[in-house]
Amino acid sequence: MKTYREIAGDAGSDILGQVKEQQARLQARLAQITHTIAVMSGKGGVGKSVITTNMAAALAMLGHQVGVLDADINGPSVAKMFGVRGQTLKVGKNGVVPVLGPLGIKIISMDLLLSRDEAPVVWDAPAQQDPFVWRGTIEVSTLREFLADTDWGELDFLLIDLPPGPERLPNLPGLLPVLHTIVVTIPSEVAQLTVKRSIALAQQLKAKLLGLIENMAGYLCRKCGALGELFPSSGEETVNVLGVPLLGKIPFDPRIARCSDRGIPFVLEHKDTTAGEAFAQIAQKIKRNITFGEGER
Ligand code: ADP
Repeated sequence: MKTYREIAGDAGSDILGQVKEQQARLQARLAQITHTIAVMSGKGGVGKSVITTNMAAALAMLGHQVGVLDADINGPSVAKMFGVRGQTLKVGKNGVVPVLGPLGIKIISMDLLLSRDEAPVVWDAPAQQDPFVWRGTIEVSTLREFLADTDWGELDFLLIDLPPGPERLPNLPGLLPVLHTIVVTIPSEVAQLTVKRSIALAQQLKAKLLGLIENMAGYLCRKCGALGELFPSSGEETVNVLGVPLLGKIPFDPRIARCSDRGIPFVLEHKDTTAGEAFAQIAQKIKRNITFGEGER
């Protein structure tokens, strides 16, 4: 049987060679990142991007070097939530330079590649001779480029905001052996149905499951401070049903949505609120629960 090279000849593009080179670049990048954490959800709209943004800020507030990769290619919202929308990515001598958000958080998002809403999606990576133009949503290759061709530098934590849906986890090639996952859900039976699949897949793929964050866990009355119920089932039930550790619960607080729209992580402005303290405690828990290896700062 002929090899790809024999069929393509010298004129053919050396796809295998390019993939190998990219894998080597990915491994070199990962060697500088102490922990990668994918934030997943079964359904959209449960607050996954808000949680990712605020977790990143809460970890940075603990003094860590943090990066965020917005892996939602078609519906990126992380740049907006960090207030960096409108900035564009530049190419430096070591790769694509991430945009800097608050507390020096390094951000890569498809949103930052688009100078105008109608602009084509172009990834001008140094390893390529010409800018690469995506047609359609080739999510796996896009994420591979984002991971391997970005000059992340040294990071304590790289948080990856995955698009909603359990099937997204295998889209992180080369990362699964070192990947930690966090699952975000809301305390409703409808959300539980889909989040179970995310958890099962993470376990099947042997990605380390750090635990569950329950968002919109009750509504905090601004007048009396009481926590009212938003959804019919209680948080304990959700965790018991799913059988995974609970990292924490974030109440519904309209200021969280307002901060996201203004491009300021909620924890930076409201760290002394119930939700702000919950984010800080979750960040501490993540730090504690991750088994630190050699070279951890
Ligand atoms: P997802 O990433 O799961 O699709 P988002 O993070 O984009 O969801 O959140 C959806 C909407 O809900 C956003 O407008 C966000 O600001 C709002 N939101 C998320 N969590 C909360 C919360 N705990 N309190 C108030 N608003 C929230």
